[in-house]
Amino acid sequence: MGACVIDGKALAAKIRSEVANECEKMVASGKRRPKLCVIIAGDDPASKVYVRNKQKACGDCGIDSETIELPGTVTKEELFSLIDEKNGDGNVDGILVQLPLPRGIDEKEVILRISPDKDVDCFHPVNVGRVYTGDPLFLPCTPAGIIELLKYAGVTISGANCVVVGRSNIVGKPVSALLLAENGTVTTAHSKTRDLKKVTREADILVAAIGKPKFFNREYIKPGAAVIDVGMDRDENGKLCGDVDFDDVAGICGPITPVPGGVGPMTVAMLMKNTLKAAMIRK
Ligand code: NAP
Repeated sequence: MGACVIDGKALAAKIRSEVANECEKMVASGKRRPKLCVIIAGDDPASKVYVRNKQKACGDCGIDSETIELPGTVTKEELFSLIDEKNGDGNVDGILVQLPLPRGIDEKEVILRISPDKDVDCFHPVNVGRVYTGDPLFLPCTPAGIIELLKYAGVTISGANCVVVGRSNIVGKPVSALLLAENGTVTTAHSKTRDLKKVTREADILVAAIGKPKFFNREYIKPGAAVIDVGMDRDENGKLCGDVDFDDVAGICGPITPVPGGVGPMTVAMLMKNTLKAAMIRK
């Protein structure tokens, strides 16, 4: 069985161009372009790269973007007053506060401060709840990107045994919810799961989201299974890699996402889709 590599870059480019078309239609009908406001506090180098990628994607899609850089010494009150200002700004459709935040500022409080109808990351509890109850306003970006990748690769989710390893609020839990909504039979595994290999070897679809470089080798994989690698890790040489040992697994699995070029580009593409949706709701 040879692996089919799922091209996340190509799919992300297709989604970005669909968003760009919609933006041009809005402009042609006399409306303003969607606008995303990105707030970054402190100078975490990885966060800066993520923010630059988001700015670039906005440019590609014809979405206006505004990036506000705050010093790492910013207070909670200052950040809140900025969020309040953007919540009330009728020209801003989406607000994204790049995580992690400087020490002393509580992530949960910041997320709660963002108006749910501008919460394009889909982190606000109102939006998380809507995903779980089957009435989503926005879809969580990385999880929604994973569903799109599976569909693009022709993988049937309905009825499939889906095993998600990882239970974070950003990836593991919401992707489990979306797979369930697609009629998958979902198991969410984590660090306390007993006999993880036995659990993952039952998976028709395996989503690896633990943040451990090349953790999953072929011993964890059912032959032919679809493998989605969410990890963005560094190997022993400092090179970007995923949670899956791609070279070991590729010989026995079915469709598999590479790192880089798999889930990562999809996350940003889905953010663009959410920003467009926010603008459409506002109008
Ligand atoms: P996280 O918050 O650190 O959560 C990791 C999860 O993995 C936890 O639920 C943890 O279990 C579980 N885990 C850790 N070691 C394990 C083990 N040996 N066996 C089973 N479960 C284990 O991480 P995250 O934010 O979800 O991110 C996961 C990975 O995805 C990271 O590499 C991150 O960089 C990447 N990521 C990529 C994107 C993208 O767009 N491509 C987006 C977000 C994240 P417990 O809950 O029991 O501790």
